[in-house]
Amino acid sequence: TEIIDLLYDGEPLLGEDLLKLTGWMADYYLSRRIDTISAALPAAVRTTIHDMVELTDFSLQAENRRVINTTLRRSIMQLMIREKRLTMLQLQRRLGKKQLYRTLSELERGGHLRLTKKFTSTRPKLQTAYRLSETVPEGAEESLHGALKQLEAFLALSSTTDPCVPAETIGSSREILNALVKKGLVEKVQIEVKSNFSSGFAEEPQSVKNPTAAQKHALEALQSALNNKRYATFLLHGVTGSGKTLVYIEFLKSVLAAGKTAIVLVPEISLTPQTAGRFRQHFHDDITILHSGMSNQEKYDAWHSLRQGKTKIALGARSTIFAPLKNLGAIIVDEEHDGAYKQDRTPRYQARDTAIMRALFSKAICVLGSATPSFESYHNARNGKYSLINLRERVDGAAMPLIKLVWMKESPKASSSISELLFRQIELRLEKNEQVILLQNRRGFAGSIFCLSCGHTPLCRFCNIPMVYHAAENHLRCHYCGHRVKFRASCEKCQSTDLFFKSSGTERIEEELQKLFPEEKILRMDVDTTTRKGSHGRILKEFHDQKARILLGTQMVAKGLDFPAVTLVGVLMADIGLNIPDFRASERTFSLLTQVAGRAGRSTLPGEVYLQVYNKESDVFTALLQGSYEKFFDQESATRAALRYPPLSRLIKFECSATDEKEAESAALYCKETLTAHLPMESGTVLGPAPAGIAKIKGRFRYHVLVKLFEAKLSAAFVREMSDHIISRFRSAALSFIVDVDPQNL
Ligand code: ADP
Ligand code: ZN
Ligand code: ZN
Repeated sequence: TEIIDLLYDGEPLLGEDLLKLTGWMADYYLSRRIDTISAALPAAVRTTIHDMVELTDFSLQAENRRVINTTLRRSIMQLMIREKRLTMLQLQRRLGKKQLYRTLSELERGGHLRLTKKFTSTRPKLQTAYRLSETVPEGAEESLHGALKQLEAFLALSSTTDPCVPAETIGSSREILNALVKKGLVEKVQIEVKSNFSSGFAEEPQSVKNPTAAQKHALEALQSALNNKRYATFLLHGVTGSGKTLVYIEFLKSVLAAGKTAIVLVPEISLTPQTAGRFRQHFHDDITILHSGMSNQEKYDAWHSLRQGKTKIALGARSTIFAPLKNLGAIIVDEEHDGAYKQDRTPRYQARDTAIMRALFSKAICVLGSATPSFESYHNARNGKYSLINLRERVDGAAMPLIKLVWMKESPKASSSISELLFRQIELRLEKNEQVILLQNRRGFAGSIFCLSCGHTPLCRFCNIPMVYHAAENHLRCHYCGHRVKFRASCEKCQSTDLFFKSSGTERIEEELQKLFPEEKILRMDVDTTTRKGSHGRILKEFHDQKARILLGTQMVAKGLDFPAVTLVGVLMADIGLNIPDFRASERTFSLLTQVAGRAGRSTLPGEVYLQVYNKESDVFTALLQGSYEKFFDQESATRAALRYPPLSRLIKFECSATDEKEAESAALYCKETLTAHLPMESGTVLGPAPAGIAKIKGRFRYHVLVKLFEAKLSAAFVREMSDHIISRFRSAALSFIVDVDPQNL
């Protein structure tokens, strides 16, 4: 489309590498080009791309009568013949939305209309400011003597170092300043509104650290690749606490010294303020930190300054991969295994994989770092696609934490979810004034209720998944759609009062802990305590400053925290994540437990980890107790090979959803038939249709069909045609159709 040729400030809107990248994404993720391009632009620029409809050729000849065979087509053509050119929005307002897009593309295919894009740019907001005039007219200064307020304003302006100052900063009213302008003492100018870039991330001064031998070794490999000026990807596999951040920072220094720019991706910036702070502390104004707390204006400003080369490093979550940096030398993907790199709305891209492609198009070095690499990345390192760098030990000889299993069935309990053993361990650390992190995995059926008489579990009537009990409000709540009902202390089915709070949520565990340690302040970090902006940071800071010694939370507490006084990590239900019907369940559990264990004993004090389990018979625990990623990888390889799961195949998920369950299911069935008819036997298999993991969300039923591709690629054109077909066949159902390449969740 024409958008590709659009200029911005006289330069192409997207540089050549981003142009290629968005093209690759559209191709690989089977999405529309306009969606991938939009994803690569800040919202302020994105909103100025208008979908346009233009009349190309239409004379009412006999052959064209056929075109006007529906009311909608007729209305569109009549309108277009009159107007010649309309934005999509105008058209929608006049004709209503229903089926407009599809009809338009049909008319486009017939050559009657053209769908294009129009682009207008937003400029940064301007504001009025004042500065002293260069030359002062005769007698002007004397005229200030009687006017006290004018004199004040004039003196304020004379004493500031800023050349131009907005009225608010001077503290005088506009009338007074305008009076000075009239007298010729002061001039009025327009300046750009300055955004406040300080993001509140801790920038603790740290002592200068010299890289250890292992870190040096890693650096040398990266630096020599950089000098080659060719694309390469490295997998930096470093155990928790091995000092990966210092390697990134030192490498980035070489990148800047070589006159190049860089991108640093982190999974979720609000969860890792420490990491962001460390980069900021080293690179000051050379780094732009992009985070969700920024306004659209601030994001726009950041985009602009990266584009102009004013800042050299962009750090942020997945969309930072589109930072408009020129002369890119390196891309670092920290915690590359993290699921947050996959976007779960259109375009459904994987930022880590997209990073590798951008590095390829820019001839840059890509560094993937993790203590628990994704199975796919390690596979690629083993087969030579990536170069593997190992950091096998913790910095400064700190030992890896000692991991122990507590089998709940045989262990005495201090409370319903905490074993006597874990309780004693917590007590011990508190006596020594050390810190404790406790993890309650929320995945699975955490917090739901189980009737001990009839086995009933209350389900959300919209989503068909267990409702979660919230003690503070005394209600049950659905964690997918938010639906809530008042909690009744008896079973809704058999009226028994013998209820069991199956695998309690964090809130209940906090209660248990508070009973066990009445004097202790407990910090809780989960979705409920972190809804407000900046609350993650506040909780972590409190813990960091040792204002509390117990931090209890969900997966959030497993990520990247570096607190030297933490010597104990406890996981309350370590096996809960293994029961989820997803082929990545083992990988996720291994990774989560290794990561959270890695928070313990990172400094001089040794760390211990207690994993409470209900089912101890899993290979995952064998590898975990040995602290061996390689062992886990080998076990997992066997499973994946047997079932031909990725990376030994490629998965594409097709999801049909509708308010009517039968429509959703039959659309999915039709999708399966279409796929099966077109896919040669040896290239792959088609599975399903099956209800999606959560079959119903917000009143819509969801069914999916899964394609396991062994070799051939599905073409985007085929998929588009298929979806057009499915949607037009199931017209009545308000059907929606989603294609997800390399799905993260099944
Ligand atoms: P990782 O990300 O690999 O888990 P970090 O980068 O957080 O580990 O480093 C762990 C700790 O070791 C941090 O507190 C860091 O400041 C410290 N550290 C890293 N490298 C060195 C070094 N060369 N000398 C001293 N301390 C270091
Ligand atoms: Zn019951
Ligand atoms: Zn629900």
